[in-house]
Order: sequence, then structure tokens, then C-alpha cells
Amino acid sequence: MNSIKVLDKEFVPYLSEKEIQEKITVLAMQLNKDYAGKRPIFLSILNGSFLFTADLFKQITIEAEVCFIKLASYKGMSSSGNVITAIGLEANVSGRDIIILEDIIDTGKTLHHYLPQLLSSGPASVKIAVLLNKKEALQFPVQVDYTCFDIPNKFVVGYGLDYDGLGRNSKDIYQLK
Ligand code: 5GP
Ligand code: MG
Repeated sequence: MNSIKVLDKEFVPYLSEKEIQEKITVLAMQLNKDYAGKRPIFLSILNGSFLFTADLFKQITIEAEVCFIKLASYKGMSSSGNVITAIGLEANVSGRDIIILEDIIDTGKTLHHYLPQLLSSGPASVKIAVLLNKKEALQFPVQVDYTCFDIPNKFVVGYGLDYDGLGRNSKDIYQLK
């Protein structure tokens, strides 16, 4: 693997396609076991999680559903940490077992703000599965139940994750040089 340039920034190889796919296989096997007979709903948070969701869901062998929502956070001078739902939840989650799929947990702000909204719809259970977990960066209490990789607090791109909209279409994950 070689370094790549996305816009003005240089990124170095960090996690290979092979490593990523291996971890996803392990996670899928665990979820197949933990949710057997429960018909869970995988709730994927767009945009970053689309490849993670697709690769994981292909390896789910139990009865399961998948749906998507899009959350966006306002960034700006007056940022009060507001998270808006840009595409909402269509599925009826009442009484259902939900597994949230996130590409990366950074400060935890996005999920910390969204979870009460989801819980108010009365799911039977909610667990969080993430591809990447920047543990040191966590500022808002969020309990992550399944993690593929714990990573340091450095900006990454690839495999669904973008830098200013670009870089998502890479099979490997790169770290800012
Ligand atoms: P949080 O709300 O946990 O602070 O951040 C979650 C969102 O921030 C992620 O879903 C992702 O969109 C973005 N994010 C956080 N860290 C990174 C990173 O290292 N690289 C990229 N591309 N996005 C990140
Ligand atoms: Mg995201």
C-alpha cells in the first residue's frame, strides 16, 4: 500500500482491506450468535457506514432487517452540539432489537444526541457496533458494545470515511500523515 493524497492532505496506509474484512467477519459471527432467533434491525448511520454495513450485512446469516438514517451535526461558531436527523427512521422499532452501525465513534456527540430519540420509540434493546473506536476522543457518554478496531485520535479516511466528501471509495483505511 502506498500513501494517497486527498485534496490538500497526505494519508498513509493504516488498515488494509484484508484486516478490515477479517474483523467484520468476526463481528458478523458474534452477532449471528448473539441475535439468533431475535430478528434484529441493523440501523446504519449514513453516510460513512454504508460500506461497513454492506460488508457486515452480507455475512449475517440469521433473520435480520436493515435500515438507514442520516444524522448531521451543526458545526459552527454557535455550535451547541446540535445533531439533526437529515433522513429519519422509517422502520417501526417498537419492541424490536436494534443494532446501530457506525463507521467511527469520535467524540460520541452524534450518538449521544440521537439515542434518546431512538429510545423514545420503545425498542426492546439497543446496542452499538462500530468499525472504528477513537476511545481517547470520547467526550459524551456512549456505551459501545461491539468494536472492530480501537484506533488513536488521528483523522482517518477510506472505506466509507471521507475527507471533505472524498476518499470514501477506498478499500483500505488511511491515516493523516
Ligand atoms: P462523533 O459524533 O462521535 O464526534 O463523530 C462521529 C462522526 O464524525 C463520524 O460518523 C464521522 O462522520 C466523523 N468522524 C469522526 N472522526 C473521523 C475521522 O477520523 N475521519 C473521518 N473521515 N470522519 C470522522
Ligand atoms: Mg458517520
